[in-house]
Amino acid sequence: TTEEPWRPFNKSRVYMSDLESTLHYSLRVELAAQPVFKGEALRSLKKYISVLAKYFPGRPVVMNLLKSVNSWLQNETSGQISYEAFKDILENSAQIPNAALPEGVRWVGCQGSQPHFRRYPCGVWTLFHVLTVQANSTGGSDPLEVLSAMRNYVQNFFGCRPCAEHFENMAMESLMEVNSLSSAVLWLWSRHNRVNNRLAGALSEDPKFPKIQWPSPEMCSACHTVKENGEHRWNREQVLPFLLSYFSSSSILTDYLE
Ligand code: FAD
Repeated sequence: TTEEPWRPFNKSRVYMSDLESTLHYSLRVELAAQPVFKGEALRSLKKYISVLAKYFPGRPVVMNLLKSVNSWLQNETSGQISYEAFKDILENSAQIPNAALPEGVRWVGCQGSQPHFRRYPCGVWTLFHVLTVQANSTGGSDPLEVLSAMRNYVQNFFGCRPCAEHFENMAMESLMEVNSLSSAVLWLWSRHNRVNNRLAGALSEDPKFPKIQWPSPEMCSACHTVKENGEHRWNREQVLPFLLSYFSSSSILTDYLE
């Protein structure tokens, strides 16, 4: 295997290169495991692409591609789509001008100290957070639109099956409590911290990127408070604006893009 060169990055920023790499892997590798989409899988694919076309804060060239895939998918009424047909549209067989999804992965903020660490699952979390924040800031109408599309994507397509099972359990347990776009942002943040807590110290943890309750006090001191009994407590009034700014489209760095 040829090793990629290490790309220096800022650990407390979001990179568009990770988001595009995630789309590449999701749409060209993960979805390709299914030769045909029908029923529940087709509904999940349509919701996922529709959320991406609406909220992915991408470059014009990528947005043009996502919108073209979306309008093709939503117009498809035969009840069945092959991955091959989907792939044709994804590779812009219709030759729509200035529409493409860059080929291949260039991990930046999601690089791991070894090839089996981080990368795609890190990209998936980052993408999900960015999408909930985008829906919040652009005023989506349904508070569950993004999270239920993510839930269905994970359930139907995410390659890590134990991850999908854990995520589904969390969704069944508390997704119905989400009643606003901002509570959707906070729900995903708090469930991600639960996963971090469960995985801290596990073999899958990159020793160079330990699982923490995020954001650290260094990143957001106002997010952390201490109760009278000395117990840690999150200050959600501070966590929300922190998340909205951290994952906002204007904070995403465009280094290393092709
Ligand atoms: P990640 O946890 O992937 O996080 C990526 C980045 O997001 C971090 O570097 C940080 O900048 C930021 N971040 C961290 N915490 C938060 C937070 N609370 N809110 C917002 N941003 C945050 N692995 C398993 O072994 N078992 C599982 O059950 C499992 N379930 C998963 C479920 C889902 C839906 C996903 C997407 C992944 C799951 N994984 C699971 C993979 C695991 O959670 C990590 O993605 C993987 O171990 C890589 O970790 P990482 O260090 O890159 O950080």
